[in-house]
Amino acid sequence: MRHELDLGHGFVDPFHVADRLGIEVVRFPVEDGSVEGMYRPDEGGYIFVNSQASFVRQRFTAAHELGHHRLHGDRAFVEATLEEPDDWEAHCFAEAFLIDPVGVRQLLADTGHDVPRMVALACEAYWVSPSAAGITLRHVDLIGQAELDRFLGESWSYPSLLRKHGREVRPEPAVGITEFPPQFRERVLRLVKTGQLAVERAAPMLGLNLAALAGDSEIAEPDPLGRGLLDDFPKSLD
Ligand SMILES: [Zn+2]
Repeated sequence: MRHELDLGHGFVDPFHVADRLGIEVVRFPVEDGSVEGMYRPDEGGYIFVNSQASFVRQRFTAAHELGHHRLHGDRAFVEATLEEPDDWEAHCFAEAFLIDPVGVRQLLADTGHDVPRMVALACEAYWVSPSAAGITLRHVDLIGQAELDRFLGESWSYPSLLRKHGREVRPEPAVGITEFPPQFRERVLRLVKTGQLAVERAAPMLGLNLAALAGDSEIAEPDPLGRGLLDDFPKSLD
């Protein structure tokens, strides 16, 4: 996909790439973390990313969902967690997409073999979590399994690892934001109007207060279970 879109071997922004591919990106916080991401193929495809996660996590989730778009285009996916084994393909796609194997080899060609520092350099260049960077370095054989295990055992976060190695920490964009394209708003309003989504559920999604949205809706008693969401949203949002 990097090659197709002429992205080179350096840093990529999966949100920008989704946009270029005409995929809608929807972000809002799922505070209990029960849904990490989602891909749905309908209407050109859309991707949901839980904006409550750290930004490196959001970037990885977006790349993972791009993987579903590329590899399993016409199927829908909802991920409670990205550690599921059946998601292995999309996971590998996300890894190789965010941390280009050729680029990372070039980046680390002359740096010596200090594992935490190697990972810090990869995190800085590609804006990924230390675990994603470490696992990629293992996959491209730049570090050994025992070295990876030892590194992962140290539980570094993106900012703590980069600071320790004097690298530039990118400022974290607002976590917990709500962001979606206009079509998504229409979709939510349509569900409210047809009684398939409770106003109480829709209002916070659209950043509206209840009264404003209730005044807009012609439905006296929307389906309190939000059954329409089973089709349009992950189950655990109901
Ligand atoms: Zn997946």
